[in-house]
Amino acid sequence: MPSANNSDGSLAWLRDRNRQRVMEILRMQGQISQADIARATGLSRTTVSSLVAELKEAGRVLDVDPKPGPARGGRPGVRLVLRDPGQVVAGIDFGHSHVGIAIADLAHNVLAERFFELDVNRQAVEALDRAADMFGEVVEAVGVDRRRVLGAGIGIPGPVDRARGTAGSATILPGWVGLRIATEMEERLGIPVQIENDANLGALAELVWGAGRDCSNFAYIKAATGIGAGIVIDGRLLRGATGTAGEIGHTTLDEAGPLCYCGNRGCLETVASGPAIVELVGPVNGERLTLARVVELASDGDVRCRRAVADAGREIGVAVAGLCNLINPERVIIGGLLSRAGGVLMNPLRESIRRHAVQAAAEAVDVRAAVFVERAELLGSVALALLGSHEMVRAV
Ligand SMILES: [Zn+2]
Repeated sequence: MPSANNSDGSLAWLRDRNRQRVMEILRMQGQISQADIARATGLSRTTVSSLVAELKEAGRVLDVDPKPGPARGGRPGVRLVLRDPGQVVAGIDFGHSHVGIAIADLAHNVLAERFFELDVNRQAVEALDRAADMFGEVVEAVGVDRRRVLGAGIGIPGPVDRARGTAGSATILPGWVGLRIATEMEERLGIPVQIENDANLGALAELVWGAGRDCSNFAYIKAATGIGAGIVIDGRLLRGATGTAGEIGHTTLDEAGPLCYCGNRGCLETVASGPAIVELVGPVNGERLTLARVVELASDGDVRCRRAVADAGREIGVAVAGLCNLINPERVIIGGLLSRAGGVLMNPLRESIRRHAVQAAAEAVDVRAAVFVERAELLGSVALALLGSHEMVRAV
C-alpha cells in the first residue's frame, strides 16, 4: 500500500526533523527548559515533551540543575542539556598579537580561558605550534581527557577561504599565505577543527550569548583596527560563495579618496579604521596615541578625539545603511574596540543610517552595542565549535 507507506514516511521524516530542531536548540542554548524549547521551535509542549522523552531514553539528553552560562543568570526550573556534559569543545582565537584559548562543555560552561602574547602576524607556524602546546596545557589544567574534546573552532583576524582552509588575504596576514590552517591544526590537535574570521566569530558570540540571542536577522559590525561585518540571516551565518561575505570595510565611499591597502581607493577603512582615526588625531604632546587611548579620551570629552570617533561613526553608518537596504536586518550590533566609545560613536552612526538607508529599513533597525568586546572572538570560536559539535560527534 504505497499511500500508507508514504504517509508513514513523511510522518517519520517530520518527527526526525523536529528532533533535529530540538537538538539544534540545545546546542545553541547549552541549557534550556522544555517550555523554552517549545517557544524557540514553535512546536507544541506535548510534541516537545514526547521528543524529549525519546531523546532521554536514547541517552542523548539529560536533566540538570540550572547553572549560569557565560552571560546569563540561571533561571529556576529543570533544564535539559545534551548528554555527557563531560565532553568539551575548544575555542582558539589568533589575534594579531595574541592567542586565546577556551574550553567549554556542551552545557555552555566555559571551564578555562587563557591569553598569551605572540607575534601572530609574522610567525604563523610558531603561532600554530604554540597554540597546540597551550591547548594541551589547558585541557590538562581543567582535568579533561583529551579524547573528550570533540573539536575546535579557530578564529583568524582576516578573511577565510573556507574551501582551502587558508587565510584569504595576503595583505592582512602576510605570514599566513598558503598555510592550510585547518589541516595544520587538525594534525597538531588530533580533532576536527573549523576556521572563521573575526567578524563572523563576533556575530556567533552575540547570536549564542549576547545582543543577538533573541534575534535571527542581524548584522554584527566589528569596528576596530579593521572594519568587518558578520551577517546572520534566519539564525545562520551568511558566508557567501568563498567565505568573504561581510567585507564592509572595503565599501567604496570616495572613488578619488586615499589608496587603501586592499588596492582600491576611498574604502571605509581609509577613513574609519583604527589606524585612520589614530592618524587623524595625530600625536598629542609628541606622543602617538593608541586606538584604545583615543576611545578613552573621546569618552572623557576630549574634543579632538570625540570628533574623530564621531566622524568614523558617521562614515560607518553610510556603509551600514547600504547593508540595511540589502538585507533589512532587525538589529545592527556594533562591536570591536570602537564600540567602547558608546554614544560618541553610536549617535552619528544611527543618524547616518537614518539619512542614507531607505525609510522602511532605517525605521525597522535597532542599533545597539555588542555585549562582548575583548572576548568576542574567543567566545565566538567556542560557539563555532559548539554549533558544529553535532558533526564532530558523528565524526569521532
Ligand atoms: Zn580597501
